[in-house]
Amino acid sequence: MGSVGLPQFNVFGEYYNTIDGKLCSTQETRHGINPATGKPNPEVPVATREDVDTAVAAAQKAFKSWSKVPYSERQQALRNFADALEKHQDDFAKLLTQEQGKPLMFAKAEAASGVTWIRTLSGFELPEEIVEEDDTKKIIVRHTPLGVAVGIVPWNFPIQLACGKITPAVVTGNTIIIKPSPFTPYCDLKLGELAQQFFPPGVVQVLSGDDNLGPWFTAHPGPDKISFTGSTVTGKKVMESASKTLKRVTLELGGKDPTIVCPDVDIATVAPKVATLAFLNSGQICLAIKRIYVHEDIYEPFLKAMVDFTKTLKVGDGAEEGTFLGPVQNSMQYEKVKTFFSDIEKSGQKVAVGGVNEDKPGYFITPTLIDRPAEDSKLATEEPFGPIVPVMTWKDEQEVIDRANGTRMGLGASVWASDLDTANRMAQKLEAGSVWVNTHLELDPRAPFGGHKESGVGFEWSAAGLKAYCNSQTLYLKKKA
Ligand code: NAD
Repeated sequence: MGSVGLPQFNVFGEYYNTIDGKLCSTQETRHGINPATGKPNPEVPVATREDVDTAVAAAQKAFKSWSKVPYSERQQALRNFADALEKHQDDFAKLLTQEQGKPLMFAKAEAASGVTWIRTLSGFELPEEIVEEDDTKKIIVRHTPLGVAVGIVPWNFPIQLACGKITPAVVTGNTIIIKPSPFTPYCDLKLGELAQQFFPPGVVQVLSGDDNLGPWFTAHPGPDKISFTGSTVTGKKVMESASKTLKRVTLELGGKDPTIVCPDVDIATVAPKVATLAFLNSGQICLAIKRIYVHEDIYEPFLKAMVDFTKTLKVGDGAEEGTFLGPVQNSMQYEKVKTFFSDIEKSGQKVAVGGVNEDKPGYFITPTLIDRPAEDSKLATEEPFGPIVPVMTWKDEQEVIDRANGTRMGLGASVWASDLDTANRMAQKLEAGSVWVNTHLELDPRAPFGGHKESGVGFEWSAAGLKAYCNSQTLYLKKKA
């Protein structure tokens, strides 16, 4: 491991791990691929097991003093960090498009959301709670930081999700090490570099590496907490590995979000919204709409309106003006999404619009709607994490709710209806961590975010989410022995 001093911050400069306040390179390097062009992005470090040991030791050392820094000073450091991210947000957005593939307008929105998430989450206080007080005794509940947290981040929202982990960890007095996805290490490495200007060495560190890195962290005896966002399959491995040392875990996992469209909706307004919320980020959002249930009375016109709208969506390089859908983020995911297309072909399902788009060099898929696949088909039951969505009909309210809930996933769900009583009644029966009426996917850092069933364990964000980075400690104070 070599290290350099802190040079002038430049979003497009070289890429280093940040360990103990230093920018560190590694002997071995690797690179991501720009998914719109297939061309390699710059080289990034491949952290070794020794780098992990060094970072964990630095985080443990920093915790001793950082946990004693007054809460208001930690809040101020985070506000300064947010201001710096805001100053550089256009450059972060360009880098995000280059590494992740999302269109520039959405990359800008993600960089801006990073700023909002840091500001909002660092604004919460976590005061002591007085359970009881009288002349003789006082019972106080305090929230003390856990120690060293590791934030494992997926490739779909590298900026927003890293900011959503760094902030609650650091404001409550923990230190944190971020491990980005090997597919999208660039923005997270730069966030780590930027953070060095505002936090003492070892408080915020970012390590990029290969597929060994996540398991090294979850198995390491040093960290006290793993905050993981990614697939359900990996989340189970993380929990299993963390259980060996009883690390605390928060798991934000996959989804198979249903949306139910009632017969009284205004089709011209609602159909384009539903299609948009299924195809945003090329369907690579945990909370994207992944099953569409339309009431049979309006099925044909609603499907037609979604198809007409979908045909207007421009697919292409996210750096080009007017692109609505960028490529799928990586070749592994591209091949995975294509298995859904082969299954559709094999079982003779009806493509209402869309298809794979192999005449471009990147990993492009045209947004695709499948007309009434079987309820037990691969597309209706698994998460493709790409722009391909099943559209199905329903007739009876209880039956569609049972079908919507008939999955091990429980991340998000929604109902669209003009009659709000109907919508609310149905919404309350849906089994998911986030439920919407007449929208989907709209998130707010002031509200808890997490999944039911196999979509997650625990939740993040909101004032209550800060407690996920804390131990609870009850102090029983007798005023006289
Ligand atoms: P993934 O599970 O493959 O990887 C997520 C992260 O875990 C990456 O950083 C990866 O390097 C790391 N990792 C892989 N194997 C590991 C292991 N054994 N131990 C520790 N870390 C390991 O997920 P992905 O493909 O990057 O992301 C897509 C998935 O994430 C989808 O299922 C999506 O629904 C889900 N997701 C969930 C949320 C949420 O908040 N609930 C948000 C975004 C994405």
